[in-house]
Amino acid sequence: MIKNVPEMFGNMVFNDDVMRERLPKEVYKSITKTIATGGMIDASVADTVANAMKDWAIEKGATHYTHWFQPLTGVTAEKHDSFISPVGNCKVVMEFSGKELIKGESDASSFPSGGLRATFEARGYTAWDPASYAFVKDGTLYIPTAFCSYTGEALDTKTPLLRSMDAISAQGIRLLRLLGDERTQRLTTTVGAEQEYFIIDKKFYDKRKDLIFTGRTLFGAPAPKGQELEDHYFGPLKSRISAYMTDLDEALWTLGINSKTKHNEAAPAQHELAPIYSTTNIAVDQNLLIMEYMKKIAEKHNLVCLLHEKPYKGVNGSGKHNNWSVGTDYGRNLLDPGKTPAENIKFLLVFAAIIKAVDEYQDLMRISVAHAGNDHRLGANEAPPAIVSIFVGEELVEIIDAIVDGKNYVGSKAPMMDLGIPSIPTFRKDTTDRNRTSPFAFTGNKFEFRMLGSSQNIAMPNVVLNTTVAESFRQFADRLEKVEDVRAEITKLIRETFAAHKRIIFEGNGYSEEWKEEAEKRGLLNLANSVDAYKRFADKKNIELFERHGVMSEVEVRSRQEILLENYSKIVNIEALTMIEMATRDIIPAVNAYVAKVAETAVIKKQMIENVNCSVERDIVTKLSTLNSKAYRALEELKKAEKDAAETENAEKRAEKYVGVVIPAMEKLRSFVDEMETLTASEYWPLPNYGDLMFNI
Ligand code: ADP
Ligand code: MG
Repeated sequence: MIKNVPEMFGNMVFNDDVMRERLPKEVYKSITKTIATGGMIDASVADTVANAMKDWAIEKGATHYTHWFQPLTGVTAEKHDSFISPVGNCKVVMEFSGKELIKGESDASSFPSGGLRATFEARGYTAWDPASYAFVKDGTLYIPTAFCSYTGEALDTKTPLLRSMDAISAQGIRLLRLLGDERTQRLTTTVGAEQEYFIIDKKFYDKRKDLIFTGRTLFGAPAPKGQELEDHYFGPLKSRISAYMTDLDEALWTLGINSKTKHNEAAPAQHELAPIYSTTNIAVDQNLLIMEYMKKIAEKHNLVCLLHEKPYKGVNGSGKHNNWSVGTDYGRNLLDPGKTPAENIKFLLVFAAIIKAVDEYQDLMRISVAHAGNDHRLGANEAPPAIVSIFVGEELVEIIDAIVDGKNYVGSKAPMMDLGIPSIPTFRKDTTDRNRTSPFAFTGNKFEFRMLGSSQNIAMPNVVLNTTVAESFRQFADRLEKVEDVRAEITKLIRETFAAHKRIIFEGNGYSEEWKEEAEKRGLLNLANSVDAYKRFADKKNIELFERHGVMSEVEVRSRQEILLENYSKIVNIEALTMIEMATRDIIPAVNAYVAKVAETAVIKKQMIENVNCSVERDIVTKLSTLNSKAYRALEELKKAEKDAAETENAEKRAEKYVGVVIPAMEKLRSFVDEMETLTASEYWPLPNYGDLMFNI
């Protein structure tokens, strides 16, 4: 059925159009000003907005409202209150006040706070974020909010994100003024997050404890077919998947989410959805809603959506490409190379600032994407390596080299014209070879940060991008504000910056072994796993950075570090316990049953014919018995490792044990079990196999 898309788009969102239509002129003006400048909202304005919101929401079928927030667990949280308010003894009216809109109080004690909040002070507050639109879903008015403790520390991912957006704007404006731009009032960062996911039939999913408890398969021998034929990538959509995607688009469109592109991905049963980019905080909210709806709509189709980074061993995992750019409030993208030299100076300066930021804060870039699930991707032969580097494309490499080498470089006037490059390079967007192995690639007018995991909240990577670039801007502005001849100094600055940070630029194959060696020679970081990455989070230089820009205090950084380490340990612990349970109660008994059956067959055969050939039975019984006893020993080792790790007091030491001892023990157990799977009759194997999971849909 063809629906009227423009009519249904954003139908459930309390957006600018709705506000203009429903709010008194003065109130509308005041609220749009707050949205644009990020200021405080006036109490009287809040009452009017709340009332209009409530009336609109009720028309859309809402009976409840909720302050919607993003706790540090990486998912969203909500607590629903109804609009009802008693009148007399047996009547109610629907009410919603400005106070209820602006601030909510919730028991924060069960959300992770990394020691930020003593349990006796369990109160947490949610504060309305007027810059993200409220919306109605499932009969409830959703109000996007920030979440903080009684003492004002951020307990969520959104607060630092909003602060980082302010930081890059403030420092960027300083720089623009030095370049003669008096017009721009605010810089905005934009994000388009391409989301990958797997789909699986619910009837198979329900039979796999590993998928249910951990989101990924902990055992599983490869299917005869994987992704080697590359017949799935951009292949035609299966009808069940197509029906699912249609429903998903429709649900997202009513919420005003620009779901634009959908296609099959590299691995079997893997897909991708890309929205059109928007302002960062909105892109973050929308990505969370996209993930939620991917799961919810799948259920309706008797499917399950897997957002885990690595549901299956041996085929590609899922990531998320965070396309990032920064532009002015009147719509100019600062990463657009442009066509005139004057604009190119601005572009090169911003470009240099980003290269400097990424080089100086490789650790934070890596930390921002570190996650137990993502450890199975980064550095494996499919996702970007764990080493952070930048791909800029051939033309920019040439320009940067020319600038660094000072070729035909004659100083202050019209510097770009003197580079020996006849005209301004034309950046044909698609001439870059779209190097898929680069973790951070310039793609014409934006950078694509490709290390993110599919299940992650994209807030943190954007906090890091915004804040580190704000720091480069700050240093540039500090230097330029001190000199008379700004143009000349900019030329010098660009050259020095490129020279100092060129090492982070790499155009080759990021998957290769040579790159690892080369990167080491260049002194680039290679933080192989999440725990190694987390350990650096609270390094002095990082705390200084976040404090200087008012993005996070030292306490906030340290608490996040602790939560990240904690979370890592918890995830691996659940995986280990799930493996132990599956091996002990399902797999080892199943193999024993099959071995008994085969042995019994041999005995019966012998009873019938004395000299009968039993070599098959003997072989199967021998092989499986040997493997099963190895599996059993590996299981005992895993139990010991898990217990030892779980009992370790210190959060960092504990995480180290999980990554260093428990994970290898899990891999060892898996190797024996996967081999047994290939030798055991299908009817005896207690789990649906990889073929079913990936191809039977
Ligand atoms: P692909 O990387 O798959 O080739 P595109 O280049 O078309 O795809 O864009 C990928 C994503 O980048 C889309 O979500 C798109 O909206 C987003 N994007 C485009 N321009 C910008 C920008 N200036 N800032 C942030 N994201 C952008
Ligand atoms: Mg992409």
